[in-house]
Amino acid sequence: MLLEERFLVLTGVALAALLAALVVVRFVRSGRLTLGRSAGYAWCRAAVEQSVTGVLLADLVSLRVLDANPAMQRATGLSLAELRRLTLEQIFVDEKDGESIGPKLRQADPRVPLRVRQRCRGGELVDTELSVNRLAIGARNALVVVAHDISVRRRIEAQLLENQQRLDHLAHHDQLTGLPNRHYLAAHLPGAIEEARRNGAMLAVLFLDLDRFKHINDSRGHETGDKLLQNVAARIRSIVREGDMVVRMGGDEFIVVLRNVRNPAQISETASRINEALAQPVIVDGRPLLTTASIGIALFPRDGTDMGELLKHSDTAMYQAKDRGRNNFQLFSPILDRRLKERIALETSLRAALQSRQLDVRYQPIIDIETRKVVALEALLRWQHPAQGAIPPSRFIAVAEETGLIVPIGEFVLERVMQDAARWRAGGAKLVPIAVNVSAVQLLRSDLRRTILKLSAQHRIEPEMLQLELTESAVFESREARYGESSEDAIARLREIGVAIAIDDFGTGYSSLSYLKRWRVDSLKIDRTFVRDVVTDLSDLAIVGAIVAMARHLHIAVVAEGIEGFQQLEKLRQLGCGFAQGNLFARPAPASACGRFLTGEPLAFAHDSEPLDRLEATGTSL
Ligand code: C2E
Ligand code: MG
Ligand code: MG
Repeated sequence: MLLEERFLVLTGVALAALLAALVVVRFVRSGRLTLGRSAGYAWCRAAVEQSVTGVLLADLVSLRVLDANPAMQRATGLSLAELRRLTLEQIFVDEKDGESIGPKLRQADPRVPLRVRQRCRGGELVDTELSVNRLAIGARNALVVVAHDISVRRRIEAQLLENQQRLDHLAHHDQLTGLPNRHYLAAHLPGAIEEARRNGAMLAVLFLDLDRFKHINDSRGHETGDKLLQNVAARIRSIVREGDMVVRMGGDEFIVVLRNVRNPAQISETASRINEALAQPVIVDGRPLLTTASIGIALFPRDGTDMGELLKHSDTAMYQAKDRGRNNFQLFSPILDRRLKERIALETSLRAALQSRQLDVRYQPIIDIETRKVVALEALLRWQHPAQGAIPPSRFIAVAEETGLIVPIGEFVLERVMQDAARWRAGGAKLVPIAVNVSAVQLLRSDLRRTILKLSAQHRIEPEMLQLELTESAVFESREARYGESSEDAIARLREIGVAIAIDDFGTGYSSLSYLKRWRVDSLKIDRTFVRDVVTDLSDLAIVGAIVAMARHLHIAVVAEGIEGFQQLEKLRQLGCGFAQGNLFARPAPASACGRFLTGEPLAFAHDSEPLDRLEATGTSL
């Protein structure tokens, strides 16, 4: 029943009671009521007689019933004679304590209805509302009692209340996990903050986001995802205290509010217990599932004094936890906040860079160590910011990956490479394959194969002239299907059109032999960090030696990255490494300066005549 309907019922009931009371009172006041014997005012009598509302007349002192209309007799199940043998106190009892209501009846204000319970034949008690008027009939003082059965109304009210409570619960709780939701948080967190303020206590807001939940949802199905969420909700709830709030904000985000915190250690302890509990695998549909959580924490009053600030700062801290490798918790810190803001600014200017030609591509040759001939060029992205100068890829590639900007940026690089290659070829150069760095995001989220085929036709550069460099961690971590196709499938489909595949930064990730073999990669590039000290560090020497031997066995070409000195080069040659890249041969150069790499002749080292220590002091290239 709607609120308006409820209002109408109540108004109807009140009006009926008022009418009945008015009729009776007018009768008696005018002195024309003769208790059942008035013929002259038959219509008045008839009105009372036919009223659906019970009316009683009783003596004010003894409260004995003097008269009762048929509605009253029907309502009580008692005849007029039976009623006349009773007092009002025997018919009505107080609705709360069941005590005698005589005094209340005698002092009743006619404008304020009395809620009582009415005894009926058989002992049943019916919720009733009385309006009581005092009047004098000659020398006798009497009470006119209009009794209205409100049991139906009561039931409706109770039902309405229950429905309202159920609606409130639905609106403030999450269906899936049964936890309170963001509306509940909005309604209750300000109160909890206020309470902490009054008590001089701390309050902690923990922002919790599951790691890689989307991946589980996509690969194992939504039903499994739902079960996992229910399980996570129960595990978090089991860790915190009764009075603490656990809220599902939506998706895989939860908020935990720890109230009345006296000791900050308590917060870290709870957060790490949540991390630990969630890191335990759960069996869902007979298969183990593993998820972890990144938690960001903001404290009242230190990190914020209102709900908005605390939520925002806990969210910021959560991103920091993600950044630090997930499955951990971080307390909000203004320094982290500043870094995050810088990152957001970086994202904005990177978008602008893409539009306003601030991006460029440089090329660095890859050399055959024995012949010194250039066997390939690696395309390296450059960003020349109008105000900040050159921004290295190490600063912006990760942001581009996170924001998805890497897809259009990657397309820009491929297009530029194809254009440059076409121009070099047209200029009579001896073209070599060009290596292009590709992020896992590009591999999985964009149709690289289609882009390459399109550009290849447009610029008349065969896909065989392209080599894609993928980092092993990027490929390995995302090897399960995410956007419909697994990276393994994507790689296989790229190989089909003739594109070669290289594993970049080898040694820094999983260095798994099995997938090198399975994916039939064409080459691997030993990361600069192993090459750097290969002359002085025995363990680096052993690692590089092992990688080279293994790759030779699998017929995979090996490129040593970041060669800066002759001694390094010599060591790698001795180990059997076939190819090298580094500042020793050439720094990444603009397209217009690449002619000297594309002669087909051994590369004249730019630094052949320079002393080694000077070369090594030059640091990274740009
Ligand atoms: P990478 O693919 O391993 O590229 C080699 C990096 O080593 C380049 O850094 C190169 O300039 C640097 N390098 C080459 N020889 C030497 C040397 O002798 N000494 C030193 N110290 N450094 C040397 P860069 O250009 O700063 O690129 C860094 C990383 O950024 C690349 O590592 C690659 O992972 C990524 N990157 C660059 N361009 C792109 C791109 O177009 N797309 C994507 N997704 N990633 C890119
Ligand atoms: Mg590379
Ligand atoms: Mg590399």
